Amino acid sequence: MGTTYDARRGTLYNERITFFGNVIAWFVHLLFCLLFWQLDVTSLFISNGVSVLYYTISFYFVHKQWYGIFFTGLFIEVVYNAIISTIILGWDVNMHYFILMMAYGVFFMPSVTERQRILTTTLAMLIYSILFIYVSDGIVALPQHIEQTLGLFCILSTVMMIAGLSFIFEKAVVEVTDELELSNERLQRLASTDGLTGLLNRKAGHERVSEAIEQAGRDGDPYALVLCDIDRFKSFNETYGHDCGDRVIQQVAATLSSIDGIVVRWGGEEFLLFISEQSEDVYASVEQLRRQIEATYLEYEGERLHVTMTFGLAVRMQEDALEEIVKEADHYLREGKRNGKNQVRTGGVR
Ligand code: GH3
Ligand code: MG
Ligand code: MG
Repeated sequence: MGTTYDARRGTLYNERITFFGNVIAWFVHLLFCLLFWQLDVTSLFISNGVSVLYYTISFYFVHKQWYGIFFTGLFIEVVYNAIISTIILGWDVNMHYFILMMAYGVFFMPSVTERQRILTTTLAMLIYSILFIYVSDGIVALPQHIEQTLGLFCILSTVMMIAGLSFIFEKAVVEVTDELELSNERLQRLASTDGLTGLLNRKAGHERVSEAIEQAGRDGDPYALVLCDIDRFKSFNETYGHDCGDRVIQQVAATLSSIDGIVVRWGGEEFLLFISEQSEDVYASVEQLRRQIEATYLEYEGERLHVTMTFGLAVRMQEDALEEIVKEADHYLREGKRNGKNQVRTGGVR
């Protein structure tokens, strides 16, 4: 995936994780601070007190969105506290699990290079291994029930944190994928639409009409392609300006859109229609369309402008190449133009 994808996913993840991560860390250290004060373990009371102070400042990093500083501070603080707590309280208190949590968490942190991830995780695992080899009993012996409660708390909170991180990460991934799909759809719509009329453009129209021909061929339905062109269009441009020409094209496109079929802006003032109907009906439909265009006028700068169109109609009973059918429709369109315009021309059914 591209960097935009990574950046967006990273932003969502950062926004969700840093604030709550900071709140949780702040509370956990406050609890530890109070606990070690009660238990008279001065060194851990002080180090957890310092951590509470650090996370108070860290809210500012979250607020400023200084994620790099936030995650580095978090990593150092958690690993440091896990080391000294394990040395002072012993292996069985399970404080070392927080190191594993960091080793895992680093892989989800955005804006961290792969090399940095591998290095920090390796470092965390190395520290964990050293503690595993050299630490068993601590310097301070806690009452057994406290040691057990702390041990359980450490392992459960580590598992919960890992589950929570994975859950938030997965949600961010799903959300970014959805956003991408939506923007892809928008782009696709934009790429297949003609800007002036909102109709299908030639490329997209070619695809859609080809598919419709294939479908009609499979279903054994008759269908027709109609190529139509505005009569004496140049005169609108020349007499009233290009803007007027555009308005004429838009109005014609709106009228053509009333048909039950596919309408494509094939070229400047030329349109291609796909109609799936019986041959007698399709001629009548196109003739009706011609009359409708003839009957509507465009109000432009106080003048009523009448527009007419010539239609070339090619009817098929089975599948055929789009280019071939268009060629035939174009032939009848030219015939209609030569024959006085404003008419529907067609040959036999094939
Ligand atoms: P005919 O009756 O034989 O069809 O004659 P015509 O004047 O319509 O002739 P022709 O098809 O050669 O003219 C097409 C003109 O349409 C040429 C081009 O400058 C103009 N045109 C093409 N696209 C656009 C557009 O999007 N807007 C405007 N205003 N004019 C366009
Ligand atoms: Mg024309
Ligand atoms: Mg033309």
